[in-house]
Amino acid sequence: MFYKRFYATFAPFMQAIENIFPLLNEFKKVVITMHQKPDGDAMGSALGLYHFLNKLGHSCTVISPTNWAGFLNWMPACDTVLDYESQAAKADVLIEEADWIFCLDFNVLSRTKRMEEKLKAAKGERILIDHHREPQTEMFAYGVSDTGKSSTAEMVYDFIAGSGNIDKVDATIGECLYAGVMTDTGSFRFPSTTASVHKMVYGLKERGLEHSHVHEALFDNFLENRFRFIGHVLLNRMEVFYEYNTVLMSISQADLIKYNIKTGDTEGLVNYGLSIQGIKLAAVVIDRGEERKSSFRSKDGFDVNTFARKYFNGGGHFNAAGGFNKEPLEEVVIKFKEAIKENADKLSTYQF
Ligand code: 5GP
Ligand code: MN
Repeated sequence: MFYKRFYATFAPFMQAIENIFPLLNEFKKVVITMHQKPDGDAMGSALGLYHFLNKLGHSCTVISPTNWAGFLNWMPACDTVLDYESQAAKADVLIEEADWIFCLDFNVLSRTKRMEEKLKAAKGERILIDHHREPQTEMFAYGVSDTGKSSTAEMVYDFIAGSGNIDKVDATIGECLYAGVMTDTGSFRFPSTTASVHKMVYGLKERGLEHSHVHEALFDNFLENRFRFIGHVLLNRMEVFYEYNTVLMSISQADLIKYNIKTGDTEGLVNYGLSIQGIKLAAVVIDRGEERKSSFRSKDGFDVNTFARKYFNGGGHFNAAGGFNKEPLEEVVIKFKEAIKENADKLSTYQF
């Protein structure tokens, strides 16, 4: 990929990740972290790497900037992950003492929220493994950034294989990495699902992966309230703007409280909008109290990364992005409606 070659060749700071392969034999104190509110890919890639580095004899801890969805708790060693929001003192010591700090599935340090300053001040080397656009390469000693990759989990698999350690991959590492690649590819349906993704899954199956266990753990583990909530949102909180081939769901704090909605329960909601015939852009805006968090998904060549950057202080990928606003929910909704009008030439099927 262009990004990978560009950064490996010209970046003044970040060296190609291959340069740490020879160092993997020396004992290291390692911290692994990921973006706030880690999703399946962030948690799966972090724990996959954790099990691998532990096998090599390193001392590792995974630190999440915030809490995470309960449907990730089944992952092997998820119970050892520190939540920075509730265990900052313990985590700070580990960050200060770490030789290596792996930063997975995020491009800019601000995506670790309150951990950002600690990570910047750390004397250990920061190592990036990520597939988002415009990485903050000057912040990393080593790394790989490749927007052509389906998931960070796939990149961790490449890292393990590239370092000559594919024999270390077992069913445990396989479950973590499979959860990451499967969730980030929408169960292998997005265009990012390349032949190399299927090769990776082939490799994991050969090494003992039980993939149906991962699907059940992730998708057949919800509580009734989540489905009542989805019903409520689809019936009462969804607007369809046929003129702009756009769907918006806006969810208040009162909705979240009424249905006892926890982190992760809203994941996937945005996809209902995109599955309506003809829809190009689907958005969910949720009032999380401290901020209004948006999720965007698109089809048919509409770039939600640019859209999220321009109007919602965010970013992400071409077809999946997010952002946040400080304004009240009603104002974010107005802003969204103005934004789709401004993008009418790209969203509408009418000719202007
Ligand atoms: P989600 O809608 O699942 O929260 O996020 C979709 C994608 O957009 C993910 O790849 C995520 O990393 C990215 N993303 C979500 N929120 C933000 C944000 O506030 N800033 C940036 N730069 N990326 C985001
Ligand atoms: Mn990812």
